[in-house]
Amino acid sequence: MTSVQINNVTKRFGEFLAVKNLTLDIPQGEFVALLGPSGCGKTTTMNMIAGLEEPSEGTISFNGSDLSRMRLQDRNIGFVFQNYAIFTHLSVYKNLSYGLEVRRLARPEIDRKVQVMAKRMGLLHCLDDAAGRLSVNEMQKLAIGRSAIVEPRVFLLDEPLSNLDASFRAYMRAELKVLQREFGQTMIYVTHDQIEAMSLADKIAIIDKGRLMQYGAPLDVYNNPHNRFVANFVGSPRMNLLDGSLTGESGHLKLLLDGGAEIVLSGRAAADFAQAGPTQRGSYGIRPQHIYAGERRAADDMEMMGRVEEIERVGPIRLAYLQVDQTRFLSVDEQDRLRPGDEIAFYLTAEKSLAFDHATGARLGGRLQ
Ligand code: ATP
Repeated sequence: MTSVQINNVTKRFGEFLAVKNLTLDIPQGEFVALLGPSGCGKTTTMNMIAGLEEPSEGTISFNGSDLSRMRLQDRNIGFVFQNYAIFTHLSVYKNLSYGLEVRRLARPEIDRKVQVMAKRMGLLHCLDDAAGRLSVNEMQKLAIGRSAIVEPRVFLLDEPLSNLDASFRAYMRAELKVLQREFGQTMIYVTHDQIEAMSLADKIAIIDKGRLMQYGAPLDVYNNPHNRFVANFVGSPRMNLLDGSLTGESGHLKLLLDGGAEIVLSGRAAADFAQAGPTQRGSYGIRPQHIYAGERRAADDMEMMGRVEEIERVGPIRLAYLQVDQTRFLSVDEQDRLRPGDEIAFYLTAEKSLAFDHATGARLGGRLQ
């Protein structure tokens, strides 16, 4: 079992800063996702963990031992890329057995492990086929099986599912999770897909422009984003994030949104924004499921008057676009009763409202429950 410590790592390519002062502690046996938009430095981080790139500054350690002083064969890292690293001219069996043969395992043991992995990956029927003749889905299963079979100390997966079709991707997600539980390996998984990260990982590291924005359990990151970037990036449908100017005295704060709507702040929404001080700018965040129509549910919830602009069905839920002046709120129409054109009162749940500093994007106020 191997823990990974990334200690204040910076990576430069010439003048360009790809990773900036990254510190991450990955406990042994955990499944950690590196999540962020394209170009944020995820692959560069993976390459440094794999030893394919050297940090410009800082260190990476396995179980406290500096990786740069570790011999290549002692690192024992499994790496699966987006584009299936398999030997296309060899058989499926040979692809699976290769790593075990290099490690000089006895033939019966190799046979047994190949059979177990082929069964696990649904490749038993094609063990003798040339790997190059497999379907895209099967190739990626083989690539994962081939790396997993040698039970690496650390298993690195860089967007391994992004070339697969949607239904197969969901199936492979579940398979990966089972695989990781079975082997108890430390897994580091790169993705720009927040749903994938949320459903797979024990912890998520959200990265933007080479900088760590937040590191924590999926639900904690979802409920308590530390900044506006994380609030915006995590969660589907997306959080409403609206900029405005604070007016009024402490105790009677209002947020005049740039689109014209005015929120009379109360409860924790008022307390959190009070930290910014009056006459400041601020960003207000609320998830669509915390905006509701009908009866007021809590005394602090903030009433708005608006018009139902559009209703959109997304799978089992109905999303309602609520227009107040030029400001648009996205809400979940839980009770299926809103119609386009309706003029309604709706409520913003004060307890679930988030306040952000407008200039820095940092969260104001304490944790949500
Ligand atoms: P993607 O999801 O698109 O792969 P990523 O988050 O994995 O993105 P990286 O591949 O780590 O991002 O790249 C981070 C930044 O570093 C990018 O702007 C990229 O252009 C730059 N970069 C990466 N490798 C090099 C290199 N060898 N030389 C110069 N710049 C590089």
